[in-house]
Amino acid sequence: MNRKKRTGGLDLDAAAKAAAQAIAGDKQASEMLETDAPDLQRAISYLTAFGYIQPLPLQAFGFMSPVLGAASIKTNVQAFQRTFGLDETGELDESTLNAMAAPRCGCPDVQMMRAEPVIWRKRELTYGVQNYAPGLPRSVWDGIFEAGYRHISETFDLKFTRVTSGTPDITIFARRIDGPGSVLAQAQLQPGGDRPLWLQFDDGDRWVERLSGGGNEILALNVFIHEAGHNLDFDHIPPQSGKALMNPMYDPRVDRFQPADVQYGLSKGYRPAQGGTPPPPPTDGAWRITLEVDKRTGAARLVG
Ligand SMILES: [Zn+2]
Repeated sequence: MNRKKRTGGLDLDAAAKAAAQAIAGDKQASEMLETDAPDLQRAISYLTAFGYIQPLPLQAFGFMSPVLGAASIKTNVQAFQRTFGLDETGELDESTLNAMAAPRCGCPDVQMMRAEPVIWRKRELTYGVQNYAPGLPRSVWDGIFEAGYRHISETFDLKFTRVTSGTPDITIFARRIDGPGSVLAQAQLQPGGDRPLWLQFDDGDRWVERLSGGGNEILALNVFIHEAGHNLDFDHIPPQSGKALMNPMYDPRVDRFQPADVQYGLSKGYRPAQGGTPPPPPTDGAWRITLEVDKRTGAARLVG
């Protein structure tokens, strides 16, 4: 299968763009979905980028005929609404469009099913950092990576070591994905064979270590552990299945694996960490943990 497509995020290919333009110009579709063309086009771009609409090869059909129908778009909108726990109206109402505009991970929600679960065969992984997103000092980013991997090691039987030479198993870097909001970060899933993977942050988002009340602040640790989960070949857990760090939408209250994430990882074949303690059940409200970084050594630890 096409691994690039699984992690392409908002990088729509020409076929998907052509489909979006074609359907947006379809008056019947606009009327059936009770929305205007720009909203419809944005919605189709979103549904295509995140896997609800599966593009077929351009060369096979000349254009995206399978998506050119209001009924099929409506079905895909309903699939999105079902995943996000919204009323399954199939219409691009305000709550649906708002959900599509919320900050989220760039990896698709709908993946192609595979017969065999894919996990890392080795238990000791290396990571390297190519560059850093602005907004936080490098030492804080380093502390976040260290703390995030330590959390994973305390949950599953995996070990992460930073390296500065050679090809690491996981390369972390920052680049422009889509600017502030919407997609925050994305990461590759393991296709098998312990292949090297990447994890990237959007350098246009406002990354913070803790919330100060300013607008558009994104907690880096939450997003990092989520993306690191993708590197373990974790798919998104639909919000309708419960609160999870692997929910596709960013939630500042969820900054470590939840029971649903742990169960998912174990079901894939990862072993529980030896001597590790399972995460506590999620609580509503402002529950969160705090990251403390030693200013002198740069070492970070999770508290609370
Ligand atoms: Zn994700």
